[in-house]
Parts: sequence; structure tokens; C-alpha cells
Amino acid sequence: GRARADALVLFGITGDLAEKMVLPALYGLVSQGFALGPVIGVTRSAWSLDRLRAHVREAVSEHGTVDGGALDELLGLLRVARVDYSDPGSFQSIAREAEGCRVLAHYLALPPDLYESAARCLSEAGLSENSRLVVEKPFGHDLESARALQAELTKYFPDEAIRRVDHYLGKESVENLLTFRAANTMIDTILHRNHVRGVQLTAAENFDVADRGGFYDATGCLRDVVQNHLLQTLAYFVMDTPRSGSPEDVLAERTRALRSIRTVLPEDYINGQYEGYLATEGVAPDSTTDTYAALRLYVDTDRWAGVPFTLRAGKSLAVSATELAVEFNRPVAGYHHTVCAQKAAPNLMRLHFEPHAGVTFQVLARRGADETVVDELTNKLDFPHLSRSRPYEHVLAAAVTGDPTRFSTMEAITECWRVVSELLPAPFAPISYAPGTWGPPEAARLTSDESWHAPQVP
Ligand code: NAP
Repeated sequence: GRARADALVLFGITGDLAEKMVLPALYGLVSQGFALGPVIGVTRSAWSLDRLRAHVREAVSEHGTVDGGALDELLGLLRVARVDYSDPGSFQSIAREAEGCRVLAHYLALPPDLYESAARCLSEAGLSENSRLVVEKPFGHDLESARALQAELTKYFPDEAIRRVDHYLGKESVENLLTFRAANTMIDTILHRNHVRGVQLTAAENFDVADRGGFYDATGCLRDVVQNHLLQTLAYFVMDTPRSGSPEDVLAERTRALRSIRTVLPEDYINGQYEGYLATEGVAPDSTTDTYAALRLYVDTDRWAGVPFTLRAGKSLAVSATELAVEFNRPVAGYHHTVCAQKAAPNLMRLHFEPHAGVTFQVLARRGADETVVDELTNKLDFPHLSRSRPYEHVLAAAVTGDPTRFSTMEAITECWRVVSELLPAPFAPISYAPGTWGPPEAARLTSDESWHAPQVP
């Protein structure tokens, strides 16, 4: 499962994800000099190579300025294969285009209900040997369906050859949670239950479901964002430092962190739905799908036992931003009672992921002669390189090189579904909230101070 692929077989090359993410990422890799072999686009349609090239050119050009040389190089790598998912024999078209290639990376940017038949057809066409299967999210829609999907896929590809995409694992700003702690001992030391009052993780979008109502209504926010992206991000924050940077060590610690998260109780969950969602095309008129989800959880490790972690995500919120805020303990009484009396905000460390990566520290300092008056001061450090990183480039590169670190293991997926298992199906009807707000105010009770730290956007 770890050999470098000679060719990338891209299912769903005509689709939405390919257009928005995969094709621009492939262009990015080529322009950085990444050694990419043939890219075999797989489609049910009778697309000529010229038509596919025009499509790729357009998709790449929509995403910024393009260097003609790199684009021509990518176009030169393209091949096209036509398949019919009800006829495994049709997959010989892929074998013909891949002639001379020994290891193939099959990337399924397809609707999830096709993963299984694509894997079966590949296997029957003799294209699974030595090869890898990369599947997009979602991997199942609950614990049981994820296990059933794994059972199906492993009939055709061994587990070591399967890669499950969670593009947050390709975000350098998320991986940096581990680097930042490991590299800065003064910070790592205080990230401990003895010093931390609570941790908040927010992934907010200020736009609605737009034209993806049908997809979204069957999914909801808890499944779309919290179960996968936010839990994996949290794992990077709470995991123990691995013994080394090897894939085995990193995956083992990350998975162990997920295993130590307690299953969330229904009373620690708030689901919401923005006003107007029901009028969206593709959404059931009486839908109870969550467009907002907030929950409180606990991490049963020596370091984090007892510290409340509150996670929230949603659409049509006040801003688009992803941020993790660590709230430190308040000063004790005595000399500091005067400071406490002022009800100043606590020490905070905010780790920003989107739209810009960085860290902000919030401290208190005396204003002047009067000892009872303190000012809140903040200082932000930018991580400019991390702000520019493009997660899908890492995902695609790892699909080709075979490095499993930036994918989810089956055990990790299982743990993530287990953590939210008591919230699926939702125990309550969603609370309605006005678009452009921070979602249901009721969710504040999940936080350690009955209030959220709104992510900072420039
Ligand atoms: P899509 O545009 O709906 O479909 C991708 C391609 O799959 C289509 O271009 C089509 O290719 C083929 N296809 C669609 N329906 C089919 C059917 N009923 N039978 C056979 N082939 C069919 O999907 P997508 O939005 O790109 O998503 C692909 C995967 O990425 C999904 O797993 C999705 O969950 C995941 N994902 C998507 C996004 C996103 O923003 N779009 C984000 C994160 C993850 P041909 O007609 O050329 O065969």
C-alpha cells in the first residue's frame, strides 16, 4: 500500500469536487515540480481527450493566475477512459490507458454510493493489485454504515491500500497544532488540565447551502464537519507527541487521542437550523437537518481529564473562520481579587486556521497607578506560510506517494462515529436561528463561561 503510484486514476474528473479542488491541486503540484505520472480521467461520458483538456484548462484557470508551461505539462499527462459501472469489462479502458504502469492510485471523487461498485469493477478488471484506493468523504453516515462500507471495500482492496480523505488532515495549520506544541515548551507546559479552564473550537461559515441542498439535507452539519474535520483537528491538539514523525507513530498517537474522547451525551449537544433553510431547493419542506451543531466533550487522558472542550460549526453564521481558543484559569483571590472584580477577560490563546493562520495571546496588564484597573492586551503572530498552504495538494501528493499520514485510518473513522453516535439521529428538533448570527444562543451553556469567544477575522 506504500509504493509510489506510476499513474493517478481520477474518477469523477468531470464533477464538482474535481473542478473546485482536485484539478487546481494537480496543477499546483505540477507547477511546483512534483513528479506526476499519467492522470487518467474516468467518466461515463464519451469525452474526447481534447474535451477533457479544455475542461481541465478551464477548471485550473478559474483558480488564479496560470503559468502556461505548467498547465501544458498537466494537459500532456491527461488520458481519458470511459466506463460503465454496471459492466466491469468496461474498466479495461483504464487498463489500456495505464499500460506500462505498475502501481495505480485510484482516486474516487464520486458520489459515495458508487465507491463499492467502482472498487468491485477495478478488482474484476485486474486493476486492484499493487494499487491504492482513495475514497472521498463521507465514509459512511454512521458507525454501522462505515463498518459495512469497510467490509465491502476490503473485499477488493486490503486495508493498507485504502486511503480515506479528510482534507483537514492536509491543512498545514492543523498539523501545526502538534508542531507548535512540540516546538514551544513554554506553551506545551501550560496546555494541561491544571491550567486550562476550557477549550473552544469553532468552524463557522457565513454562507448558506446554496445549490447543494439535496446533498446537505441528507448529511447535516454534525456529519459534514464536526464528526470528521473538527474531531480530527481536536485530535491534533490533544494528542501526545509521537515518538517520531513516522506515519506509524503519528497515526498511532492521533488515533489514540480519538479513542480517549468520551462519547457525547445528548444533553451536551445543541443543533440548529437557519431560518430560510427549508425553502432551499432539494431540502425537504419539513426537514430537521442541522445546519449548526455545538457539543461539549471530554478527553480522558492524563493531560486533559475534566477540561470541557466545546466544538461548534455551522452555516449562515456571522463570519467565515476556523479557530481554537484556549481559556486559562482565572487568578485566585487575594491580591488578585481586584483584578477579578473588574471581570476582565481571562488569558486566552487563540490558534487561527482560517482565513489566516496564526496565534493570538491575550494578557492583562495594569493600566497605571490604580492597582484595580487592568487592560486587556492582545498580540497576534501570523503564520504566513501556513495561510497559503493548499490542503488538496497534500492530499493528492500523498495519494501518489503512498504516505498514509494525511488520511484517516479505519480505526479513527470508527472512533469519530462512536463519539457522535448518541446524537444520530438527532435527539431533538433543531433550534431556529437568524442567518448572520452566531446560531442558537442556547449553545452558550455548553461553554465553561456561558459564552463563546467569537473567532477573530481581520
Ligand atoms: P458530483 O459532481 O455529483 O459527481 C462526480 C462525478 O461522479 C460526476 O461528474 C459523474 O462523472 C459521476 N457521477 C455522478 N452521479 C453518478 C451516478 N449516479 N452514477 C455514476 N456516476 C455518477 O460529486 P462531487 O460533488 O464532485 O463529489 C465527489 C465526492 O467528493 C463525493 O464523495 C463528495 O462527498 C466528496 N466531496 C465533495 C465536495 C464538494 O464540494 N463537491 C466536498 C468535499 C467532499 P461522469 O458523469 O463523468 O461519470
